[in-house]
Amino acid sequence: MPEQKPEDRVRNFNEVPFGLTEELAIKEAQRCLDCKKAPCIAGCPVEVDIPAFIDLVTQGKFVEAARKIKETNSLPAVCGRVCPQEEQCEEVCITGKKGDPVAIGHLERFVADYERDKGQIKVPEIKASTGKKIAIVGSGPAGLTVAGDLAKLGHKVTIFEALHRAGGVLVYGIPEFRLPKEIVQAEVDYLSLMGVEVKTSHVIGKLKSIDELFEVDGFDAVFIGTGAGLPNFMRIPGENLGGVYSANEYLTRNNLMRAFDFPKAPTPVASGKNVAVLGGGNTAMDAVRTALRLGADNGYIIYRRSRKEMPARIEEIHHAEQEGVEFQFLTTPIRFIGDENNWVKAMECLKMELGEPDASGRRRPIPIEGSNYEIPVDTVVVAIGNSSNPLIPQTTPGLETNKWGNIIAKEDTMLTSRDAVYAGGDIVTGGATVILAAGAGKTAARAIHDYVMSKN
Ligand SMILES: Cc1cc2nc3c(=O)[nH]c(=O)nc-3n(C[C@H](O)[C@H](O)[C@H](O)COP(=O)(O)OP(=O)(O)OC[C@H]3O[C@@H](n4cnc5c(N)ncnc54)[C@H](O)[C@@H]3O)c2cc1C
Ligand code: SF4
Repeated sequence: MPEQKPEDRVRNFNEVPFGLTEELAIKEAQRCLDCKKAPCIAGCPVEVDIPAFIDLVTQGKFVEAARKIKETNSLPAVCGRVCPQEEQCEEVCITGKKGDPVAIGHLERFVADYERDKGQIKVPEIKASTGKKIAIVGSGPAGLTVAGDLAKLGHKVTIFEALHRAGGVLVYGIPEFRLPKEIVQAEVDYLSLMGVEVKTSHVIGKLKSIDELFEVDGFDAVFIGTGAGLPNFMRIPGENLGGVYSANEYLTRNNLMRAFDFPKAPTPVASGKNVAVLGGGNTAMDAVRTALRLGADNGYIIYRRSRKEMPARIEEIHHAEQEGVEFQFLTTPIRFIGDENNWVKAMECLKMELGEPDASGRRRPIPIEGSNYEIPVDTVVVAIGNSSNPLIPQTTPGLETNKWGNIIAKEDTMLTSRDAVYAGGDIVTGGATVILAAGAGKTAARAIHDYVMSKN
């Protein structure tokens, strides 16, 4: 796909790929073999009918193609940009056996953008009102999907979102250069057109409890899609020094509070010249690429395993490399060192070697004694994963969680241990993917519909 040159994009926040042209999209779609068994469909967590939508692209029926995807995936413009396709549909695509797989993600993005840019987004038919009221807590991909599916069925849906903008990680975590915020906003606007009420700056568990949503507000069912927004830390000396951020804070300030637009946006972030980001996932790639765009001379990824074990999407690793990010593999920090103003000035690190696989299936990193060395840094971003926020479990009696604090929900319905309370997305699985959160939302929506319609 055509994209901005690394030397240009590394100093701006505009989206990296330009997207396919109509000609390129048709040409790419023509590579699809329209396989009888179509393994790509099974490779997609929400089973998009991939050959059918690609066939519509070959005929130049782009709007119809977008609508075909929307039969099972309500967020194609988002998923076309951020899904790890190389591990899903594209991994099993038959053309990939001998050459490159069909660029399914690029085609998905193209048709979704085409439909939106041409003003062809159509509000679906809304069934007659059922008189049932459903509350959704959290507006990430899980909550947005539940809201859309239930609104279509004629229920009155209200989303409660803690932040001042809806979209969850899609707006506060993933940067503009990977997922423009106007695209997420278009999805939220679409829900509003369908009659969904979105109440931002509403922290459930503080403002009102889950029980009050039933008893005071008269909701018939509640879906909890609050994500995994509680940052994990290294728990090593010096972590409280100035200049050491959690990836959540660093990215939220940039994405949601638009620190990159300072002083127009009055919410700066202190990002220095030598920025080290700890971790190897998408969050780490987003943070280090943000640091370069904010003017860092050096952006380091410090990862305790090797490149092979990095969980980030291949495209993001590749983009980071092109932009000049320096990867230090098999390395872990053991303390942060401050200057006279208690600002971080260096990190003491240890080199690691890989041992046997651990519970995650990845080879366990083992420190090499005496391999200590220092890296001079003035900003550190800790991006080693997130846990679930304990607020709702703490304020909802009888809501069961597992040992990591994730809400326990049945796989086939997403029902929790509380009657009429459903949950899905990262709050159930721990940090996962957009499409898995959306898939859980679809399952929950079906079960919620059956439940509320079975009540008198
Ligand atoms: C930086 C980053 C990059 C990522 N990149 C990718 C990627 O490229 N591809 C991919 O597939 N996945 C990616 N992920 C993972 C993906 O974004 C998540 O798996 C997905 O967003 C989870 O969706 P969700 O709906 O469960 O929760 P979230 O998106 O986390 O949304 C939860 C929402 O609930 C709100 N909330 C929390 N508590 C309350 C409360 N008490 N009351 C009201 N509202 C509340 C939060 O403010 C938030 O808006 C990334 C994650 C991060 C952090
Ligand atoms: S597996 Fe690949 S070639 Fe076969 S139908 Fe799916 S996208 Fe087309």
